[in-house]
Amino acid sequence: MTRAFDDLLAANRTFAGSFELAGFDGVAHAGVAVVTCMDSRIDPLGMLGLEPGDAKILRNPGGRVTEGALDALVLAVHLLGVNRILVVPHTQCAMATYTETELRDMVSASSGQDASWQSFCVVGDQVASLRKDVRKVRSHPLIANTVAVGGFMYDVHTGLVEQMF
Ligand SMILES: [Zn+2]
Repeated sequence: MTRAFDDLLAANRTFAGSFELAGFDGVAHAGVAVVTCMDSRIDPLGMLGLEPGDAKILRNPGGRVTEGALDALVLAVHLLGVNRILVVPHTQCAMATYTETELRDMVSASSGQDASWQSFCVVGDQVASLRKDVRKVRSHPLIANTVAVGGFMYDVHTGLVEQMF
């Protein structure tokens, strides 16, 4: 078995040593779901003053409302207590910086394999994509309009979240 995870498992033993989340249910206690980017500069709970147990966090490159994210949001709304959905892309996102061709070229160079078949959810106009993504959630037949849906932009330099829609 690989030893690549040893440091993380050691850290987990420390984590479990003072574990306080036992017996938690899976409901989002603040009624919040956040769709955001996988970017490591983003702390989705911290940036909104939330704690473990408060929110459902869905992450992908770009913080896009993908089919998978929509599936999760439907479950979150109906089974997990979510009544507020935030879609939060961010400034300086690689998915809005590079074209799909550029990303394919970079992955090809890194892997030494042909990556021309790989698709990426690149974003041309972040604000236009956010508007579209918010509309996709709001218009979903299984997400009632009693659920608040907002589109926001996270600034990776200031930590500020600004509502756009
Ligand atoms: Zn990003």
